[in-house]
Amino acid sequence: MVIMQDYPKKILLIEDDIQDIDLIQEYLAKSKHFEVALESADSLGTGLERLKEGEIDLVLCDLSLPDECGLDTFRQLYAQFPAVPIIILSGLDDEELAVTALSEGAQDYLIKGLFNARQLTRAIRYACERQQLRIELKQQAELLEQRVLERTAELQQAKEALAVALAQEKELSELKSRIITTVSHEYRTPLTTIASSAELLENYRHKWDEAKQLKHFQRIRDTVKHMTNLVNDVLFLNQAEFEKLECKPVPLDLVTFFQEIIDEQQLVVGDKHDLIFTSSGEDGEVLGDVKLLRQICTNLIDNAIKYSPDGGTVSLHLILEKTRVIFSCLDQGIGIPVEDQQKLFKSFSRASNVGTIGGTGLGLSIVQKCVDLCGGEIVVDSEVGAGTKFTVMLPRKSF
Ligand code: ADP
Repeated sequence: MVIMQDYPKKILLIEDDIQDIDLIQEYLAKSKHFEVALESADSLGTGLERLKEGEIDLVLCDLSLPDECGLDTFRQLYAQFPAVPIIILSGLDDEELAVTALSEGAQDYLIKGLFNARQLTRAIRYACERQQLRIELKQQAELLEQRVLERTAELQQAKEALAVALAQEKELSELKSRIITTVSHEYRTPLTTIASSAELLENYRHKWDEAKQLKHFQRIRDTVKHMTNLVNDVLFLNQAEFEKLECKPVPLDLVTFFQEIIDEQQLVVGDKHDLIFTSSGEDGEVLGDVKLLRQICTNLIDNAIKYSPDGGTVSLHLILEKTRVIFSCLDQGIGIPVEDQQKLFKSFSRASNVGTIGGTGLGLSIVQKCVDLCGGEIVVDSEVGAGTKFTVMLPRKSF
């Protein structure tokens, strides 16, 4: 782009008439206001060649040249060098053409024989000023257009973010209402149990032997535990939903970690179930989030035990690969109908074959959330009446 002061330093005169060239040379030499170097070209072709070399601030152009004449002379110049101001030199007979050239972008026109030195320099100065203004306007317009594009993109992004936020909001409010319904429902039964056991103890304990009293105390304690678990699950899910939960990996010996969980659970379940832990693959430490990993593991083992009402073996197998940590939890329980298998990872979903086995349908959605936070995947493989296997795959580097 040609950046210009008010006065040009180099003017190209495209003119084949020697007398006209001399005259303009003379006029420009007279100018007190600016010093300018005049170069001339005697045809449109040579003029265009010279313009390609650059540093021309303004063109004075005759409309009848040996290789081109009329409006096309101007049009070719303007098409190739739109940033260089052009003043047309016309004869009286082609003044009309010159006026058309003005409407197409020429800066001015001078009629040969009818202008003097002052008028020439004034036309040159104004042409440069106008051209400068035109360039600035164009730059402003481009800038404005750019801003409009940027702003539109920003608005589009905001719109998309809003749509995502709205969808999340909707999902959350649905979740909330499901939580309220389930919790109130799930609380009523255990509260009735506690109330009835407490009332029976109050009225009949002196008639009962110790074993019977203990049975009711145990019932109260179990029910309170169940309610506490439910509240904990809801709180955990709530935390996960609102993205307050983060994955914070620490160095971990996975084999010891899993073995301890299995030992703890075995103590709780007694001898109705056999809990087995095995591991294979590469040794070594991993980086893992203890809280998330514990949630995944205990929920899967709890379910494996709970949904194996006839007892049996629950096994946890760990494979340490180079890039992945894989562990699976296998039971010999009631299994999950194929049509229910995928929806179970959503909150409050339960399979159709649970019968009287208690539950809220929150455990697997907690597991899914934790696996997601660890950057991993979980899959289920199950056959009704034969057993279920959940397999979790996590990136070995860190989870
Ligand atoms: P809950 O056990 O409280 O119902 P979960 O979210 O832990 O909730 O599990 C969702 C459902 O998936 C269960 O209700 C049950 O139908 C099914 N399920 C989960 N684990 C097992 C399993 N090991 N064997 C059979 N069914 C299972």
